[in-house]
Amino acid sequence: MKRIGLLLLYSLSLLVSSERGVLNPGVAEAGGEVNLYSYRQPFLINPILRKFTQNTGIKVNVMFADKGILEKIKATPGAADAVLTSDIASLNNLTEARVLQPVKSTTLEKNIPAPYRHPEGFWYGLTMRARVLFVSKGRVKPGEVTSYEDLTKPRLRGRICTRSGKHVYNISLFASIIAHKGEAFTRRWLKGLKANLARKPSGNDRAQAKAIYTGQCDIGIANTYYMGKMQTNEKKATQKKWAASIRIVFPNQNDRGTHVNVSGGAITKRARNLVNAIKLLEFLSGDYAQKLYAGQNFEYPLKTGVAVHPLVKSWGEFKADGISLATVAKHRKTASKLVDLTDFNNFKKSSRN
Ligand code: FE
Repeated sequence: MKRIGLLLLYSLSLLVSSERGVLNPGVAEAGGEVNLYSYRQPFLINPILRKFTQNTGIKVNVMFADKGILEKIKATPGAADAVLTSDIASLNNLTEARVLQPVKSTTLEKNIPAPYRHPEGFWYGLTMRARVLFVSKGRVKPGEVTSYEDLTKPRLRGRICTRSGKHVYNISLFASIIAHKGEAFTRRWLKGLKANLARKPSGNDRAQAKAIYTGQCDIGIANTYYMGKMQTNEKKATQKKWAASIRIVFPNQNDRGTHVNVSGGAITKRARNLVNAIKLLEFLSGDYAQKLYAGQNFEYPLKTGVAVHPLVKSWGEFKADGISLATVAKHRKTASKLVDLTDFNNFKKSSRN
């Protein structure tokens, strides 16, 4: 009986907090809680969430997952107030599935540059990474490859490695090429890239660095933070050797800039702790969290003026593609279709000619 009473009290407090959120969205709640679903790993966000609770008194209940968050939100709407994702693909999927609500926040709009948040506020980028070229220090001359377009040049035949063309990171890169240069160009580009592969698309981003180290190929496509993860990997020290054999080339520095992707946050349509959820996203966009959040995973902060991790800084400065990621995301389906049409993942060495 006592337990039922407690449960009732708990549900009442949820009701009260959601009422407050709806009636007075600008008024800060003292304490309370926020329920979070996270694709981002505990090592990355737990220290930041602890600080958030210290500062605000708001308790954060986190459920970590590596897939299925959309299904969970659909099955139990209101169980999560906010979501943290590790890529634009999941932010876009959640938006298209209509399980998010648009959020207006001057803090978020000030902290996060426009290309890296949804124009109506359905999601906000929180950290940024660039999709770059890992190139062999010994076998790729400076200036030999400087753009994504260069990857189709005949001189690179048999020298390029990549993970699956269907992986979310590559789909976003291909979608950005469609956004800039159109579908027909991108289809030809994918054919050209396929013709230059050294092996069937396989492995993760780090596997491309390993393939360069072992001499299977000279150039790989990968996200920047993997360089940092390899350079600092004490548990698997051989990864330090892979990293030492490559350098990073930031493509398209003379024109549109390097394709970037974001990890981000969003608020669910049925959030019960709306005000607290907004406060959490705002906190993640602020100086303290930006430095820690980006630095822990060797990513780039999105808020201008926040210091970049020294190791990340050592890779050099670069110009990021300034196109809106919401625009890029619209081309993801077409990008996926082109990967099928070019039979990209079915590369065979003998089929090259
Ligand atoms: Fe990753």
